Amino acid sequence: MSQEGTPVHRRDAEVPPRADVVVVGAGITGAAVAHQLARRGARVVVLDRAARPGAGATGHSGGMVRAYDEDPAIAALALPSLAAYRDPGRWASGRAPLHAVGAVTVADPARGPALREAAARINAALRASAHVVSGVAEAAGIHLADGIALVEPEAGWVAPAEVTDDWLRQAVADGAAVHRAVRVRAVEDHGGRPAVVTDAGVIRAGAVVSAVGPWAADPVPGLRPATTVRTRSIQVSIVERRPPAPPHATFVDLRTGRYAKPAGADRTLIGMPHLVWDCPLDAPPDPAHAQATVSALTPHLPWLPEARHVTTIRAADAYGPAPAGGAASGLLDGTGVPHVWSVRAWNGGGVKTAPEAGRLVAAAVAAGTLPPAV
Ligand SMILES: Cc1cc2nc3c(=O)[nH]c(=O)nc-3n(C[C@H](O)[C@H](O)[C@H](O)COP(=O)(O)OP(=O)(O)OC[C@H]3O[C@@H](n4cnc5c(N)ncnc54)[C@H](O)[C@@H]3O)c2cc1C
Repeated sequence: MSQEGTPVHRRDAEVPPRADVVVVGAGITGAAVAHQLARRGARVVVLDRAARPGAGATGHSGGMVRAYDEDPAIAALALPSLAAYRDPGRWASGRAPLHAVGAVTVADPARGPALREAAARINAALRASAHVVSGVAEAAGIHLADGIALVEPEAGWVAPAEVTDDWLRQAVADGAAVHRAVRVRAVEDHGGRPAVVTDAGVIRAGAVVSAVGPWAADPVPGLRPATTVRTRSIQVSIVERRPPAPPHATFVDLRTGRYAKPAGADRTLIGMPHLVWDCPLDAPPDPAHAQATVSALTPHLPWLPEARHVTTIRAADAYGPAPAGGAASGLLDGTGVPHVWSVRAWNGGGVKTAPEAGRLVAAAVAAGTLPPAV
């Protein structure tokens, strides 16, 4: 049943005095966790300091999703997440959010056997048609620049803000309350259970899940994760293809970290690593890096030098240690306050993992037994 009409946030002056679980942060991670907890019957309160959605990484993200990842722990989250993004039955809108334009992962030819193995795994799990191409110049509109490519025709991109909104609507329909413009000031230990101190009142909670993204690098008292989280800049540009070029898949080149995706009619988002660490979250775009990105991506998208620059967007994500072991371990970190956990840093990949990460985090919190910290 569609829940598109469900109002998604509350404007009450005060937060409720009690909750089973308080989720701090209404980005894609907090929304995934809140949705999954609410559908398990937990009384959930979601708090976000920003008045408008999309204040953090989620609001700036390109939303590329694919089943493949070099890191097996991330791949274990990305594969079922892609299945969720493809399934219309999982969404309040009744529509699958995936734009299945295809995903091309370019790699050094030496990685051929590993990519073929990955393709077989993806196809067995998703009934998909992933395959490896080598010895060709181009795949799905992407020039391979002497690399080989894993092509996932059933992958592509989602709009992260839409996905987040859909999950929050589902959470509200299941009884959750979402409060915007409410900043968490501290989380304290009151007799073994957390008290969430906000600028709109105190909430006594059974548990707290912190999903504050890059703010975890400089957390409020009581939300400091046990492992170190740092901010790292991510900068992308949108260009307009002039004259219009044929459509292309999303792509990432594992050799260089360069990537691109379609971004609307005749528009493409391009990016490459911007290795600025511990940066302020509102740092302005870096024009030299934007220019270098065009040159660096031209071997893959030869029409780029003719394209019109539309805008450059700079944001940041939280970076931390990769999760150890399988998918269920390392997703939550202790904070030193009983029953208060911080969701791991997503290292620039929080959208492609969010459906399955949210499910696993919610299951762990609901069970009261958590996977071991990283
Ligand atoms: C430009 C860019 C491109 C990207 N492209 C991709 C991609 O193609 N594919 C992919 O998988 N990933 C991509 N990512 C990464 C992905 O977007 C992030 O990993 C993901 O959005 C992180 O979501 P989050 O919910 O954890 O954090 P955020 O979206 O940052 O949300 C955190 C929320 O916490 C709130 N908050 C913080 N402190 C407090 C407080 N004290 N009290 C209350 N609320 C608080 C903030 O207001 C914010 O809304 C990209 C990121 C960027 C920046």
